[in-house]
Amino acid sequence: MAGEYLAANGIDLDAEMAKTQFEHDFANKAAQHIKTRAPPPQYSDVYPSGPLRKIVGVRLPHKPPSTLWDISIADGKIFAIDSHASNSHDIGHNPSVLVASGRLLAPSLCHAHIHLDKCFLLQDPKFADLQIEDGDFEEAMTLTSKSKSRFEEDDLLRRGRQLIEESIHFGVTVMRAFVEVDEEVEFKCLDAGLTLKKEFEKRCEIQICAFAQLPLFSGDDGGEEIRKLMTAAAHREGVDVIGSTPYVEEDEVKMKMNVRWISMMALFNNKPLDLHLDYHLDQSREPMIWSVLEIIKGRNWVERNGKSITLGHCTRLTQFSADDWQRLKEEIGELPVSFVGLPMSDLFMMRTESGVRGTLPVPEMIEKYGLNAAIAVNNVGNAFTPQGNCDPLSVASLGVAVYHAGSNKGAEVLYECVSSRAKAAIGCPAASLNLAVGDEADFVLFDRINVGWRCRKSIKEAVYDGGQSRQTIRNGKLTTY
Ligand SMILES: [Zn+2]
Repeated sequence: MAGEYLAANGIDLDAEMAKTQFEHDFANKAAQHIKTRAPPPQYSDVYPSGPLRKIVGVRLPHKPPSTLWDISIADGKIFAIDSHASNSHDIGHNPSVLVASGRLLAPSLCHAHIHLDKCFLLQDPKFADLQIEDGDFEEAMTLTSKSKSRFEEDDLLRRGRQLIEESIHFGVTVMRAFVEVDEEVEFKCLDAGLTLKKEFEKRCEIQICAFAQLPLFSGDDGGEEIRKLMTAAAHREGVDVIGSTPYVEEDEVKMKMNVRWISMMALFNNKPLDLHLDYHLDQSREPMIWSVLEIIKGRNWVERNGKSITLGHCTRLTQFSADDWQRLKEEIGELPVSFVGLPMSDLFMMRTESGVRGTLPVPEMIEKYGLNAAIAVNNVGNAFTPQGNCDPLSVASLGVAVYHAGSNKGAEVLYECVSSRAKAAIGCPAASLNLAVGDEADFVLFDRINVGWRCRKSIKEAVYDGGQSRQTIRNGKLTTY
């Protein structure tokens, strides 16, 4: 009956039921496919993007805000910088021309130091029971260690992918990502890091640092197992950097053994070295930095073409006198040493009993002592750094207050600390704020079109408040939409 009624109204019930069955089967198959499919589609499959030939009508750092410029790009580099030709025939619907309409263009951003494997632990539902109560270093180590015992490929990829996506959105084109290697996680974090490095290779350069966060010489077996794992990791294809954390060893002798062993690994494998060093504010303890420089010099690092050495945290150095800084500059000499300050984490984690905080005085180290230094995010969403996001500029912004760097020059140094100086600290080519022909076409474009007088017109304004809406260009190609 119903069939006749529906047929009279132009509806074929059999056909409708067959269609419903088909949709049901299709949905089942799709669900099955989602369950069994491997990685998600590559970004480039979804948003094909050819190289940009020109970016027209940009504001540039160090140029009067009233002037606009056209950047020509060839082979991933700046080919020409000309005054903006407002009547250019290129403007319009040419997909290789990006119309900037007065937005500020600056060199892209860089994470000189970010932990890829332990990001978003406080937000991910899988680790929801592991929340901060005390907020101290011991608790952060305990919570992270409990989380690590649950790490699996799916959550490592999910969290890491999120961090990289958000970072690209903020203007990042290159990062040094730490992935831990130890008896608990073995190569899980490293494998996930290497997978993500490959997945994002067209959009972001990811340097993978195989990292011993746990002691290499303390513990029940004297560190034998972790050293075996680190040795194997150092030989893995795709591992770019070797790193360790001497301060976690149980005594000073073992800290030095840690530095000797890991520096030897870096030198023999011809890879850069990254140490997380002197992460305390205890004035009674001799800073490890002096031993590190002595050990590295003893290896004839420069003569043997040793790669770059990057030293993170180093909060103990905040108690240095002017003489100590001067001595540091002299002892470094020709060694390719850079420091990375991590104020987001340091200010949360590091305080003396009397409440004094400490983070490396990075602008002063650069301007007063001529040291190579940068600042970085370090951790996102974990017990070491619960606050903040994946935006390197947010650290520069915090730096305005922490280092009292509100002037034009002060803000520009802070921008360099998350851009050119950060890239240099991890051994990458780095364009300065004076963009020039031949520089890499790796940029960040601030704001959306038509935000009027609120648009960022200078680096200083971008450091004060970087805003949320940006476009990123790497190698002359858009990596965000
Ligand atoms: Zn770190």
